[in-house]
Amino acid sequence: MKPAPFDLHRPATVADAVGLLTAYGDDAKVLAGGQSLVPLLSLRLATPAHLVDLGDVAGLDDVGATEGSVRIGAMVSHRRAGRHAAVCDHAPLLARAVPFVGHAAIRARGTVGGSIAHADPAAEYPAVCVALGAELELAGPGGTRRVAARDFFVSTYTTAMRSDEVLVAVHLPAAGPRRGAAVDEVARRPGDFALAGAACAVDLDSDGRVERAGLSLFGVADRPWPADAAAAALVGTGPGLDLDEVAHLAVHDLHPSDTLHASGRYLRHVAGVVARRALGRALEEARRG
Ligand code: FAD
Repeated sequence: MKPAPFDLHRPATVADAVGLLTAYGDDAKVLAGGQSLVPLLSLRLATPAHLVDLGDVAGLDDVGATEGSVRIGAMVSHRRAGRHAAVCDHAPLLARAVPFVGHAAIRARGTVGGSIAHADPAAEYPAVCVALGAELELAGPGGTRRVAARDFFVSTYTTAMRSDEVLVAVHLPAAGPRRGAAVDEVARRPGDFALAGAACAVDLDSDGRVERAGLSLFGVADRPWPADAAAAALVGTGPGLDLDEVAHLAVHDLHPSDTLHASGRYLRHVAGVVARRALGRALEEARRG
């Protein structure tokens, strides 16, 4: 099928993009890399009269590490984010998620901001954002605001972003010097969205004990699932911890629904397995130093 007719707008600034979204309201949609939106347009599951293409907006593809955090502009492609030194050095969990996102062509065109704004519950970056305690920078008619990741993701394909706002950047707290990060997932085929996945980051103190931990599951709820009890159980621990017990805590309150591809019971089991693997690999990496 072909998309329904639309007017394409190519603003040069964030303020102009916000102005267009304000003027056209629910008749407008932001276009980033198009990897999720264009299929929806082609199937006429979305029929906006106006598309606001962010491709020419200055400054949205900047990446930088400052004052304990890494800022990734919304229009940075998956591929560039995964290779950028600031991301690899200071936000390794996001860099580790990149190879799991679709295929090479999707990673070349799709954007970090697009994936976060789209809020697919099976996507990797929303879980990375929740595990790390990231903040999303939004620009709207009243200026910019920052929203904590766990408040941003509301439910399937639904965020706290208003229709007249643009996601400008994601701010990820920088990893410490002794850190480990791992993403693990099970998908039906390479490049498919995950049936169930886990993103885990740990920082160790100078005595080798866990100082900071974040764990989030994806694909198993209507938004990234913060496995807070498991992360809390890690803090203060040293080698010898029973990771099976921590993984059990991660899925204790999790009750995924049945899907077309798997029963909820199976998804819960897989979530425990990928959580255990991600925890193990993140801790191993941190301890290797
Ligand atoms: P677009 O498709 O342009 O936009 C997506 C949505 O977000 C639209 O509603 C748009 O209005 C909104 N939007 C985009 N940017 C902004 C912004 N800055 N501010 C406000 N709203 C915005 N993703 C994964 O995470 N994991 C996978 O395993 C995966 N597998 C895929 C497999 C296939 C075959 C395909 C086609 C896609 C897959 N994706 C996967 C999706 C991919 O990551 C997309 O790149 C991403 O979801 C959307 O990014 P985009 O830049 O293409 O956004």
